[in-house]
Amino acid sequence: MIPKRETRTIHVRDLAIGGEAPIAVQSMAATRTQDVEATLRQVQILNEAGADIVRIAVDSKADVDCLAEIRAETDARLSVDLQESYKLATLVAPHVDKIRYNPGHLHHHEKARPIPEKVAFLAETAGEHGCAVRIGVNAGSIAPDYKERHGDDRTSAIAQCAADHCELLDAADFHNYVVSIKDSDPRLVVEANQRFAEARPDVPLHLGVTEAGMPPDGVIKTRIAFEQLLSCGIGDTIRVSLTVPFDDKGLEIVEGRAILADIEAGRFRSVPKNFFDGLNIISCPSCSRVENERFIELAEEVKEMTRYAAEHDLTIAVMGCRVNGPGETDDADLGLWCGPSRVNLKRGPEDAGSYTYEEVLGSLRVELDALIAARVS
Ligand code: SF4
Repeated sequence: MIPKRETRTIHVRDLAIGGEAPIAVQSMAATRTQDVEATLRQVQILNEAGADIVRIAVDSKADVDCLAEIRAETDARLSVDLQESYKLATLVAPHVDKIRYNPGHLHHHEKARPIPEKVAFLAETAGEHGCAVRIGVNAGSIAPDYKERHGDDRTSAIAQCAADHCELLDAADFHNYVVSIKDSDPRLVVEANQRFAEARPDVPLHLGVTEAGMPPDGVIKTRIAFEQLLSCGIGDTIRVSLTVPFDDKGLEIVEGRAILADIEAGRFRSVPKNFFDGLNIISCPSCSRVENERFIELAEEVKEMTRYAAEHDLTIAVMGCRVNGPGETDDADLGLWCGPSRVNLKRGPEDAGSYTYEEVLGSLRVELDALIAARVS
């Protein structure tokens, strides 16, 4: 049931992605990169679960030093997420097989340097060290110029941004790249990836629903997107992003392979028409930036506490860090982003106070009740 794909083949070290290669399954370490022992254990858990590539986040030179130690201890294919620190690429590239950059974060540093120059720098660095590149576009962090041009049409913004960055890499004569276009809403993921695949059928795609949340909902949301895309021949590599305890991260690989096996065998799951109605809880899968592992427990507590509001069409976002948390909660009705000892509560893009992990559920309940009351009146 997975038709022949038409993308070109790229390589992440010895792993072929795209074209006739098997669909690769990836995940990401959730531990702090500077906790080398825990991160190595995390890489091992993912490897043993069958991960083809393991991604690690790097935000500082200290992270890079630890990455070098991790590299020396594992044969896993490693990918690194550069986030805002695109210039770290020169330090990171010698230790990894793939570099992921987010076009929405390139404007943060060296604002005067044109984006095409930054992309050319990344292409040159990756090329020198034999790394593949992922252009990782995320609807939660759209680059400001695309936000301006496309307004509320996030699908167009992210599909166009991905296509433009492909052109920038092509212009730099770098072709060993994949693209990912993600959002927490599987319907947007399907539409944006379809649109991109029409424009660039040659470029391999990495699929994922970001901030899909906890199982089983997180798996169902992901399955919805993967069934629609893979059955049309769109998608060359996948990740199932789940909010689960660090020791259970192998579940992302197990669920990814199960979804692939089902689609290959023609076993499609249908979901009720009203699946997207009612309360929607999105939560990030966590990564090395999580500042307090208590975040995972909090996400589960939010799910439990808000069950009483299940029939209301509201979105609550629970994010694990201050890097992406503030921006990625903006579009939710209520958002929580977690720091080391406090949780910041938001009402749409507005701040609604900072609380301890113990206090925040009570304040969330007050905000949720007020929103429900406002909609009813
Ligand atoms: S919100 Fe922060 S902790 Fe969660 S996955 Fe994104 S960067 Fe990592």
